[in-house]
Amino acid sequence: MTLETPIEFVKGIGSERAKLIKNVFGISTVEDFLNFYPIRYLDKSKIFTVATLQETTIDVQLKGKITSIQEIQTGKTKRLSAKFNDHTGTMDLVWFQYSKWLKEQIPINREVYIFGKINAFNHQFSMPHPEIEAEESKESETRLKPIYPSSEKLTKRNLGQKFFQNILKHICKEIPTLVQENLPDYMIRHYQFLSRQHTFLNIHFPKDPQHFEKADYRLKFEESFFFQLGFGLKKNHHKTKSPGNPFPIVGDHFTGFYENNLPFDLTGAQKRVLKEIRMDMKKSIQMNRLLQGDVGSGKTMVALLTMLIAMDNGFQSCLMAPTEILAQQHYAGIKDLLKDTEIKVSLLTGSVKASARKIIHEELENGELSILIGTHAVLEDKVKFKNLGLAIIDEQHRFGVAQRAKLWAKNRIPPHILVMTATPIPRTLAMSFYSDLDVSVIDEMPVGRKPIITAHRREKDRAYVYNFCHEEIRKGRQIYFVYPLIEESETLDYKNLMEGLESVMDNFSNYNVTMLHGKMKPDEKDAAMNHFASGKSQIMVATTVIEVGVNVPNASVMVIESSERFGLSQLHQLRGRVGRGAEQSYCILMTSDKLSKDSRTRIKTMVETNDGFKISEVDMQLRGPGDILGTQQSGVVDFKKLDLVTDAHIIKLTKNLVEKLLESDPLLQKPENLIIKNYYLQNYKGKNKWSKIS
Ligand code: ADP
Ligand code: MG
Repeated sequence: MTLETPIEFVKGIGSERAKLIKNVFGISTVEDFLNFYPIRYLDKSKIFTVATLQETTIDVQLKGKITSIQEIQTGKTKRLSAKFNDHTGTMDLVWFQYSKWLKEQIPINREVYIFGKINAFNHQFSMPHPEIEAEESKESETRLKPIYPSSEKLTKRNLGQKFFQNILKHICKEIPTLVQENLPDYMIRHYQFLSRQHTFLNIHFPKDPQHFEKADYRLKFEESFFFQLGFGLKKNHHKTKSPGNPFPIVGDHFTGFYENNLPFDLTGAQKRVLKEIRMDMKKSIQMNRLLQGDVGSGKTMVALLTMLIAMDNGFQSCLMAPTEILAQQHYAGIKDLLKDTEIKVSLLTGSVKASARKIIHEELENGELSILIGTHAVLEDKVKFKNLGLAIIDEQHRFGVAQRAKLWAKNRIPPHILVMTATPIPRTLAMSFYSDLDVSVIDEMPVGRKPIITAHRREKDRAYVYNFCHEEIRKGRQIYFVYPLIEESETLDYKNLMEGLESVMDNFSNYNVTMLHGKMKPDEKDAAMNHFASGKSQIMVATTVIEVGVNVPNASVMVIESSERFGLSQLHQLRGRVGRGAEQSYCILMTSDKLSKDSRTRIKTMVETNDGFKISEVDMQLRGPGDILGTQQSGVVDFKKLDLVTDAHIIKLTKNLVEKLLESDPLLQKPENLIIKNYYLQNYKGKNKWSKIS
């Protein structure tokens, strides 16, 4: 048996079963089986009793009799319920999904052992999907018993826990010849790791909880270490192999603007990141940098100043935004900042007319145009620059591979890249997903900014909320009312918005109300935005189209309707639309009376803090890293063992370790590091999903 042996040749499997297992779990080789980790373990040496059960997260074992079974129909769904009695008390066993086969297999009125997690509700315990073993067939067990992921399709064919346990027992016997070490001695000693062979033995059949912990830790460490190593090697490669246009000069465009047109002093953090960027662009290596900063921390000014440096060095720049509205806002803002200069800026979006577009194309090619602001339209092949030196991406989600390639191809030597996040992302995510980028963080807000006051209100408080809004309008302020987008039903969205609009118009009949939603044509949206921004209307009723970037400093109240329907980063983004002026601003989170636990956590977090970095951490705990990155990207952080929420310390440790390692041995040529290199080359190079990024 080798790692590559197809599973059909493993004793007890055969081609028929091999196909099934491959279909369901994607396991096709012995190696896949070794990496098919248990989802939990049973301690079969302890027997609990119903009377003394406590709320716990571990699996428990009980001994008793199943006295009756019954199918229960509620609405369209059926479940199977059984009574279990162990002389100390009675508990329900429940199956939410089950086959006829399973139903017939349940032994009635015989001594059995049942295993599983318990659910507690109103001090009543129940056990969903228990494992049942008849007393006579129970083996005496001292070790922790692995429980593997299961599937009904396989269980029906008798490929249940017993089967997987037996196969893995068999494979684990071969571990001494199958599994080779992949970390150097000095690391194993330093971190007191189990050997790699003992790691696999103890992950499948732990000797005791301590051995399991050690095995589990090593697997997480390995996963994170080789992942970081991949990024580290790639970054090194990039630094030595990707030429960039050096920008050594800070000249008249930059200094002229800085001294005469800068409307405020930069914050310390803005100055620091600007310096980091300048240092990077001085070199003849392409810059690949992520600029992280909270909503309102002033990323745009950093972007503009960076573009001025590009100009000073004779290069053009482009700034891309994810939506038309945001691109327009950037354009308006930057044009205004540059109004006393000669610098030429244009806007290119999908809705720019052909005639205007033609002029932009020409001016880009003859170099008259220094700064282009736009949406994805900028990427089109027709858009050619005379000398593009810098591309800034103000984004929600990271650009796809194809889009990046297009950007790179816009000059013979690819432009420097600066990616700006729309909201902060958690540290562990930045450390893994964005590992190939250098990171700059703006961790300071402009002075004099008053923290937004956030309150949670319910339907019964509506009159009070409207009253408060009236007062603010009387003071000369403007108000946003935002309604959620329910993706499954656009018609419902619209209805929501229309009802909202009606209610607002009824209650604010003496004021002008503007509406903004995604179905409107670009020029209608534009007109609506301008109407509100210029103060012609006091209230804007909108869907989340206003989420990103919209800047109306006089707006001081953000009312978010049905706010329990929004995700945390969305709420934070929305809230960031107010608090942009000198006045005290408010965010009012309207919810219904009944809230789920997660909704409560979200609302509470919003009320308690304005710190986007803190909010992003909570968001990741609630949703998991995949959802935060968006579906297209989530596969990249699809670790088997590593958890970006709970294993932050491991990620940090391995990142530092890899940095030090590659500093002292960039190509892993030292004899003691060859073991790492060989394993990496065999298992990761060319196979890694993340090699496709950037
Ligand atoms: P974001 O980082 O969310 O993109 P913006 O760049 O839109 O933030 O900046 C938010 C607001 O803060 C803008 O109105 C901008 O003019 C202002 N601003 C930026 N930097 C400073 C500063 N150093 N001092 C005062 N106001 C600033
Ligand atoms: Mg911005």
